This record gives sequence, structure tokens and C-alpha cells, in this order.
Amino acid sequence: MKPLISVRNLVKEYITDVGDGERIEVKALAGVDLDIYQGEFVAIMGPSGSGKSTLMQILGLLDRSTGGQYLLNGQDISKMNDDQTAELRSHLIGFVFQFFNLLPRSTCIDNVALPIIYSGGENPQERAIELLKTVDLGHRLTHRPGQLSGGQQQRVAIARALANNPKIIFADEPTGNISSQQTEEVLNLLDDLNKKGVTIILVTHEPEVAKKARRLITVKDGLVVGDDVLQSPVIRCESPGEIPQKQAADPFHWKRLRESLRMAWGALTLNLLRTALATLGVMIGIASFVAMVAIGEGAKKAVGDMISSLGTNILNIRAVNPRSAKGTSENFRKFEMNDFEALQQFSKSIPAIKAVDAQVYGDATISYQNKNSMTEMVAATPTIEEMQNFKPVMGRFFTDEENHMQARVVLVGQTVAQNLFGDQNPVGSMIKINRAEYQVIGLLPRKGATAYKDRDDMIIVPLRTGLNRIMGRRTLGVMTVEAQDSASINRAQLVVDDWMFNQRQLKSGEPKNYDIRNMNDIQQLYTQSTGIISSMLKAISVVALLVGGIGIMNVMFVSVKERTREVGLRKAIGGKRTDILSQFLVESVLIGLFGGVVGTILGYFLSIAAAEWLDWATLFSMGSVVIAFAFSFVVGLVFGLWPAKQASELSPIEALRYE
Ligand code: ADP
Repeated sequence: MKPLISVRNLVKEYITDVGDGERIEVKALAGVDLDIYQGEFVAIMGPSGSGKSTLMQILGLLDRSTGGQYLLNGQDISKMNDDQTAELRSHLIGFVFQFFNLLPRSTCIDNVALPIIYSGGENPQERAIELLKTVDLGHRLTHRPGQLSGGQQQRVAIARALANNPKIIFADEPTGNISSQQTEEVLNLLDDLNKKGVTIILVTHEPEVAKKARRLITVKDGLVVGDDVLQSPVIRCESPGEIPQKQAADPFHWKRLRESLRMAWGALTLNLLRTALATLGVMIGIASFVAMVAIGEGAKKAVGDMISSLGTNILNIRAVNPRSAKGTSENFRKFEMNDFEALQQFSKSIPAIKAVDAQVYGDATISYQNKNSMTEMVAATPTIEEMQNFKPVMGRFFTDEENHMQARVVLVGQTVAQNLFGDQNPVGSMIKINRAEYQVIGLLPRKGATAYKDRDDMIIVPLRTGLNRIMGRRTLGVMTVEAQDSASINRAQLVVDDWMFNQRQLKSGEPKNYDIRNMNDIQQLYTQSTGIISSMLKAISVVALLVGGIGIMNVMFVSVKERTREVGLRKAIGGKRTDILSQFLVESVLIGLFGGVVGTILGYFLSIAAAEWLDWATLFSMGSVVIAFAFSFVVGLVFGLWPAKQASELSPIEALRYE
């Protein structure tokens, strides 16, 4: 008959650093030979320090020997990696510890269900309830360990040890911390299990407890010094043979993820202040990111809107005072109507030019009935309608004809209409401009306000009407040339420049008394500078996010340290590296996401505040929210990875020993 457990010359040496480079070697096991068969009830006794616990930990696959051979169910343990031993532990072995090692914040059901979840078993909750009933705790299902007596806790631990139908139960001083009456109950439970065929290996220093066993092994100084039959017959059955290895359970199965989520949530809510502090960095990073994107995009849009409302592909030509060395201004000459007519004539033959216009700007006092207001007046040709997007939303634009006849017609901006007419339709009404009557023929489209001026507070009159009737002047303010498209604007500029130079009768080398400004260049400059500012702002938020991530990492390291024993226990009852990894990762991702949610809300209000109080144009986009969440998720994941990996690689027994 093959033994279930078979060790030969098993050695365990501990090397302890005592400082100053001095190391002490302790041989906890000095060459143990031992066979234990399926169905046995074995007690291991011996004086304190003799190596009992060490032997049990190695037999239970919580620790590895430093020498000798260990065959468990015929399989050589030394050839297995940590995940394989974890798998064996999970399906073959149950543990009962002196200090119960229950998860204090979980209910009895959850404590017992955990190994089932880890092993990928079916219906963990139902099975846990069933097991708790068999240890007479059917009435304490939703209690937490702190609400139970020592004996009851140990019974929960036994139920947990039974969760995956183990072949062996290792019990290390299981009655060391409970009253004598409860000791009796626990021992009877173990006895019942043994009668059902479970191999029991019990470490104790109490002869009363050992008496329950059928076989007594005595250990001294790391060696087996006695092997006695306490009750005959010693029951020995055939060992189970090949245990069908279950398909490696999927670590991302929802049951396991739910377990991870629950544990992470518990850990986070337990330490609210620390969690809040940990999220602070991410929160600030995300808040500034969201606000900065809103402000940056808002600025970009405002600039874009402003520029496109001025028209695109436009050259502005102004008369200027040429800079001359002597500071004289003898050839300064403003444009007049005949200059504009010449330009109109000339541009007809230039394919790169789409349209030309001339404008004069001035202030005007306008009134309707008893209401007065001061507004900006633009006098222009009908070309301005298309060129600068002034298509009226009501009524019509004036015609060339009306311009030539100096008709008394006017188009009013939205603000002007509001001031003079309220909600009434202004089209058709007569208003006074500088005390003369004009007919309102159209309402201009809404242009919006910039920081400097309200561009709806304006009126447009025909160029000649403005020059001759209202302002009484001959000189034009600016002439504008619209190129066919953005590709032809530079060419148009060259042609116009050339023509203008001749038209103004300048000699070569003479300074120009006019200036042509390419509005596309200016537009680009604006867009670029708003782009630079918004990327700078984003870079700052990324730095904040990094700092936030390091904050998370810090807290996660503390969290791992604090729960080292818990990690050890989870591993002892079958938790694999991926289980531990995912538990801590979920925790750090939760911190990150929490920071993300609060940060997004904060950022949203920041952008609203900036719009309200600083009058900044902001544009809050759902896209930035999605990016913010993705960022906070990634920050949590990336910065949680190192601590979580550290936790997952802890050796179960060292973690259990951790003080
Ligand atoms: P028992 O369970 O019989 O009291 P142990 O197996 O715990 O004995 O310990 C056996 C010997 O090994 C003791 O001398 C103890 O000091 C030593 N020992 C146990 N664990 C460690 C460890 N982690 N590091 C160093 N020495 C240890």
C-alpha cells in the first residue's frame, strides 16, 4: 500500500541574520523519515522548539524543505512550482490554525466560501452554509469572527478547512486557544471527520488532546524519536492516487473578481482617511486635467469662432505711415473711393481673388422711439455679407444699387435690436442714426462676445451712405481682399502687393505706405498659441497624475504590509498568485477610479467657476471625461502593479509568520 505522505531524510535549516554579518544556522528538522497513510489520525508531539510546526508546514506545502525528499500522494513536491503546490493545497489539504486565522471583516459564510471561490468550485455560498451547519453553526451564518467565541471560531475554521473536500487536515495546536469544553467539541469534530476517511495530522503539546489520535509521533531536536500506536487498529487506506487536476480556474471569473472587489472595498472603507488622502493626488490631477481641457478647448473654440466670423482667406489692406529714417510722413495717404474702385477693377482679372470690399468704422448714436444707444457703425459694400458671414437672419442685405444710391437703409446687430426693439421684429421699422431716419432692412446673425467687445452691438450701412451721408468723410478705413481659397491666399497677397506698389506710385526701395495683413497667418498664430497653452496645461495635469500615482503606490505598499498575514492565510487556503495580484490591483484601481470620479466632478465645477467668475470661454466635453476615467484607471493599475506583485509573491508561511 502506498503512503499518502512519505518523507525521507527531510531537512529544514533556518539561517538567521543576527547582524554584523553574523549568521546563525538552526536545523529545525535534522533528517526526518516518516510515512503517513490515508485515513490515519496522527498526533505529533514534542517539546517546544523541537520542530513540530516546521514539519507540519512542510508537509502542508506552506513551506519547502532545504533537503531530503517529500512525496505527497506519490508526487515529488520538490519538482513543483508555487502555483502547482497552491493547486495541490487547494484540493488536497485543509488547515486549522491555533489562532483561527479567519478574515475578521468577513461573515462566517464568506470565510468558509473563500477556498471554494479560489478553487473555482460550484455554489460557494450554498456549500459554505451546508458546512457551517455540519459544525453546528447554522445559527451564526452571518456573524463575523469577532462576534463568536474561540471555540466557535475554530469550528468556522474547521468548516473552512473542509470546503474543498480535502484528503488531509493539518491542525496546528487547534485547541490552544479555546476552553476545555470547546476543546472537546473541536476534537470530536476532527474525530468524526477521521471516521469519514479524512486523514488528520494534529500538532499539540497537550497529552489530553493527543489521546484522541490513533498514532503518536514524537519529535525531538528535529528528529522523529518515537512512533507509537495509541488506539488500535490504526486505520490505513489506499491513497487517493492521481487527483484529477481541475482546469486552472480563471482568475478573472466574475466570482473571483467579485471577491476581489469586496475585499478591496472592505479594505478601502476601513481606512477612509487614508483612502481619501491616497485619492487626493489623482483627484487633483484629474480635476485639473478636466478643467484645463475645458478651458483650453473653450479658448480654442472662442478664437476659432471669432476668426471664422471675421471671414477666412482674407487680406486686410491699410494705409500706413511709412517708417522713414527721418521720421517724416510726406507720402502718407489714406485710401479713398477711387483707390477702391481701381482695386475692384484690377481684381476682376485675377483668378486668385474672389471678392473685394472696403470698410469704414465709426461710432453712431441711434434711436428708436424714446430709446437711444451708442453703437459701432460699419459702412461696407454688399460683398461683406458673404465675406464675413453677415447673412441676415431676418430681412435682407442691401444691394449694390442701394450702395450707389446712398440709400438710407441699415442692418442691425442682435444686441442693438434687443436694446431698441426688445423682442419685437425690427425689420421694416425706421430708426434714427445721428438724427436722420433710416429703414431697418435686416437683422444680423449672432456673432457672440469676446473679452474685448460685444460683436452684436453694431450696425451695417452701405459704404457710400456711411461715407457721404453719416460720417461726411472721404477716406476709407480698410480694404479687404478675399482669396479663392487658403491655397491661393499667398499668391493673391503677392499680386495685390505688386499692384498696390505701382498704384501708389512708389519708387523701388521706397518704404511702403500701405500694409497688407494676411488674416490666415494671424489666425494660425492664435490657434498655435492657444494650442501651446492648452498642451502646457495638460502637461501640468499629467505631472499631477504621476504624483497621484506615486501616492497610490505608497498607500498600496502600506496596505500590502499591513495585510501580510492575510495574504499568507489566503495563500494557505488555496489563493494563487493571480488571486492576490487581482485583489490588490482591484484595490488600487478603485482608488484611482474614485479619484477620477471626484476629480471629474471637481474639474467640471472648476471650469464652470472659470466661466462664471473669470469670464473665460470653457467647453466641457464628454470626451475629456472618458479620457479622465481611462487615465485614472491606468494610473491605479500601473502604480498598483508593483505592490500587488510584491504581495502575490510572498511565501505563504513567511506571510503567516509576519508580525
Ligand atoms: P515547535 O513547533 O516544535 O515549537 P518549530 O518548528 O516552531 O518548533 O521550531 C523549530 C526550531 O526552528 C526552533 O529552534 C525555532 O527557533 C527555529 N525556527 C522556527 N522558525 C524559524 C524561522 N522562521 N527562522 C529561524 N528559525 C526558526
